Amino acid sequence: MSLLDQRVAETLSGHGVLAQTVPGFQPRQGQTDMAMAVSQTVQEGGQLVVEAGTGTGKTYAYLVPVLLSGQRALVSTATKALQDQLFSRDIPRLVEVLGLPIRVALLKGRSNYLCLHRMEQARHSPESAQPGAQRALAKIETWAQSTRTGDMAELSGLDERSPLWPLVTSTRDNCLGSTCPRYRACHVNLARKEAMAADVVVINHHLFFADLSVRESGVAELLPTVRVTVFDEAHQLNEIGVNFLGQQLSTVQLHELCRDVLATGLQLARGLVDWQALSAQLEKAARDWRLAAGMHRGSVRLRWTGSQPEGVDAFEWADALQAVSAALLQMQNGLDTVSELAPDFQRLADRTRELSQRSALFAQAPNPEGVRWAEVSAQLRLVEAPLDIAQTFQALTRPLPAKRLPPVDTAVISDSSEEQANALFRNALNALDAPVDHVEGLEWLAPRMADQMDSPPSESSPEQGVGQRAWIFTSATLGDEPSLRWFTEPCGLTSAQVMQVSSPFDYAQQAALYVPPHLPRPGDPGHARQVGQLVMEALAILGGRTLVLTTTLNAMRSIGEQLHSQCDAAMNIEVLVQGQSPKRRLMERFREGGGEGRAGCVLVASASFWEGFDVPGDALQLVVIDKLPFPPPGDPLFEARSQRIEQQGKSAFADHALPEAAVSLKQGAGRLIRSETDRGILVVCDNRLSTMSYGRRLVRGLPAMRRLEDHAAFLDALRQLTTDATSGKA
Ligand code: SF4
Repeated sequence: MSLLDQRVAETLSGHGVLAQTVPGFQPRQGQTDMAMAVSQTVQEGGQLVVEAGTGTGKTYAYLVPVLLSGQRALVSTATKALQDQLFSRDIPRLVEVLGLPIRVALLKGRSNYLCLHRMEQARHSPESAQPGAQRALAKIETWAQSTRTGDMAELSGLDERSPLWPLVTSTRDNCLGSTCPRYRACHVNLARKEAMAADVVVINHHLFFADLSVRESGVAELLPTVRVTVFDEAHQLNEIGVNFLGQQLSTVQLHELCRDVLATGLQLARGLVDWQALSAQLEKAARDWRLAAGMHRGSVRLRWTGSQPEGVDAFEWADALQAVSAALLQMQNGLDTVSELAPDFQRLADRTRELSQRSALFAQAPNPEGVRWAEVSAQLRLVEAPLDIAQTFQALTRPLPAKRLPPVDTAVISDSSEEQANALFRNALNALDAPVDHVEGLEWLAPRMADQMDSPPSESSPEQGVGQRAWIFTSATLGDEPSLRWFTEPCGLTSAQVMQVSSPFDYAQQAALYVPPHLPRPGDPGHARQVGQLVMEALAILGGRTLVLTTTLNAMRSIGEQLHSQCDAAMNIEVLVQGQSPKRRLMERFREGGGEGRAGCVLVASASFWEGFDVPGDALQLVVIDKLPFPPPGDPLFEARSQRIEQQGKSAFADHALPEAAVSLKQGAGRLIRSETDRGILVVCDNRLSTMSYGRRLVRGLPAMRRLEDHAAFLDALRQLTTDATSGKA
């Protein structure tokens, strides 16, 4: 056992420093097993995939070995909530308890930071004429004088959805980079510098992929310098990655371009070009293009395998796209005539050119290697994406050749030479086999990189070989069978070491599964109503504490309306439905539960509540799932993946649809038991779980709960929960 292994085992043991200092910390075998596997991967390099059941304590299981190793690390999460929790709570607590001299940085996407250059221009934009805008801008300007980080989260009272937000923050499209007059004081760049100087950097998957595809937020510069990369909530990597690695063109991008061209043109080159006319022409083309996609209810994805999206008039579509291209060309010509006047015009011209290229791409036939679709809501968005992230991740995570990169004279680089810095950066990225097409402002990066590459391996990790990076992927749900193929195949991690750590909870004691035999099949028009009826019956006993997860928005609305109309004042139950208030407020209200003058709660929700909604304690004791969560038929991405699977001689149902349903079901069911003392019932209102042969596979994917065979047993179990809750047993 190595020194690091010994320190990890000791730290997580019953007599270790965590047991002595962290309130409520309990040693868990699963946590120690996972931590030892992480420790080994950190030392030897390679890829480790760990599915860690709820309650394992996976955050400490990877943080303890990573922090104790002294290696430079990147930790990526799917959500900002977990990102904040790691940065503000978990890592500082461990760093303090373990007494480690470690610098930690949080890196967010650029839209979270104040852009000094755009703030100075904001008063000239049409949006600043809106009521209240001048006052809000004055508040931002005052705050700008004192903020050190420029993190917009410090600024109370300005919502991310405010029309002012994009006026005072930047995008990759409108940032001037090293030609910006405020470049040295720029908060985005300062945040990146802090990240480069830190030992552990906490990011999120969106940022990670945004950077892999367009290298715009600093992560690409970080990546060559870190030895350990951890992806928590890794089950979301493929879907997030596919969205970022593809090509996109949207009416939102076109409208934003019009807004920026108009504001910049009127401020810096008024009268030289007819900015209003150029902007109006592109605005109109974008609106007509959206109309050409047809009228649809809500948001839909249109399949696109031919020359235009399915169901769209071919001539109208081609004309509309042609008009967009022509308007972009006119705008580009106008911008080119003034490009010498200010760097802003050069950047706007580049941005217009990029959008022109994308409109040309979408005028051609789809790439047969990927999938293309049109997303139609109030806006229109075209996407051409790879089917998964396998190729990208294979290239990224494969072991590096065991040789050092050439030593670099840091004195020369820090003196001046951006080319040298760029060359150094390219060297490092070449080692990753990644293309470099845009490098900006690397003068601060070069010394750090040279330092990393030319220094001997850290004394705290004498066993490590040069160039062997460690990649750790973890989540509570990564598949429905031991090899975790649902996760590893689309992520290109088929040769990774895989481990499953069981939840420490006693599901047979703590939870029960009920599949109501009397309900109609899910396709039956009366199904949602009967589900609502069953929920009403349960509420009459439990008095709330119920989460209803639906697979469609229609079912959510229908069940929500039924509960609203049938829960009378005497029941004292508050019916919460997703969409009626912001998600955070709904979650807070649900967690408060009933009692002490408050009504009990039932929450009816869809999509985003199936995962990441954590309600420990007796505020949640019943989870009702309306149907087996098979992927929606007709989804272009799902169909394209199914087709590829069939071309490989496999079954689209058994090898794709079923594992997808199993993972979603497991995630939904995972809302029920969140601590050792929780008790609850899972109801799946889809009797295919009992009657179809594939139902057994789905049940096997769930934690081993006891079964309630009939309705009487279900009602008894509900009464028992109520009795236990009243007597304080739960
Ligand atoms: S460099 Fe970009 S983000 Fe920074 S101040 Fe300038 S325009 Fe804004």
